[in-house]
Amino acid sequence: MKVRLEPRDECLGDGICADECPEVFEMDEDGLATVINDSPDESLREAVQNAADECPAEIIIIEE
Ligand code: SF4
Repeated sequence: MKVRLEPRDECLGDGICADECPEVFEMDEDGLATVINDSPDESLREAVQNAADECPAEIIIIEE
């Protein structure tokens, strides 16, 4: 699984993804989400999917 934010500049900075899956998403000093692990283990799929489903900006892209 590969994870990215696109387009990242549309991030709303609410932190939902980092709450949902801190192993993959972090908020940076500008208040935008950043991906800290773009090839997460399969065991994190549900958490990453939840983050993507809940992201109000719909910018969390998951590729198989
Ligand atoms: S859930 Fe979406 S909008 Fe919210 S911080 Fe994460 S990437 Fe940004």
